[in-house]
Amino acid sequence: MTSNGAQAIFIADAPGLDFLNSIATPLDHPVEWLGSGAGMLNWLDQSGLVDAEALDAFRRTALPGELDSVASQARTLREWFRDFVDRNRGVPLGAAALADLEPINRILARDEQFSQIVAQQETRAQGTPVLARQRRWRTPESLLLPLAQVMAELVCNENFSDVKACEGHNCTLMFVDRTRGRRRRWCSMAVCGNRAKQATHRERATKTQY
Ligand SMILES: [Zn+2]
Repeated sequence: MTSNGAQAIFIADAPGLDFLNSIATPLDHPVEWLGSGAGMLNWLDQSGLVDAEALDAFRRTALPGELDSVASQARTLREWFRDFVDRNRGVPLGAAALADLEPINRILARDEQFSQIVAQQETRAQGTPVLARQRRWRTPESLLLPLAQVMAELVCNENFSDVKACEGHNCTLMFVDRTRGRRRRWCSMAVCGNRAKQATHRERATKTQY
């Protein structure tokens, strides 16, 4: 059930849904990437939501059990949000949904973000000064902040009409469909898309035998 450092899944095209996909059944058994504090740090690292330096500081300084307790809060938050997304996807979000989102606002209110002028790193204009958002990671609970932020971004920036669940048998992965004509049906063609294709082939093959 626990991930043991396995490669996490980032196929959603929206970080708020990638968070929901941090528990999944990629093969036959469910894998939980947030099963422990260590697992959660590993997932946050892979997601790019928290920089490696801050994660290392937590690994060094957290008290026993502290990170496990945050991971447990993250799992509760994730399952609460899954329920919200499941109830609301398929149509644009209306004002009625706002009242349900209070738990996210409560976490966001604790945020301690600030800006710094830093050197551009990732483009050809390397070294150009850019304004970067940073955060004071005072407590292990502050690790919930980037999660609240990506959930809030999903709610505010995405059209819930395009939020879909993979049609694969037993697959729980969700994604935002950005294809033209909104025809995406699978988490990935390589996994569920192929399985469905094979199942159709098998079905056809059995039918033609009789
Ligand atoms: Zn799938």
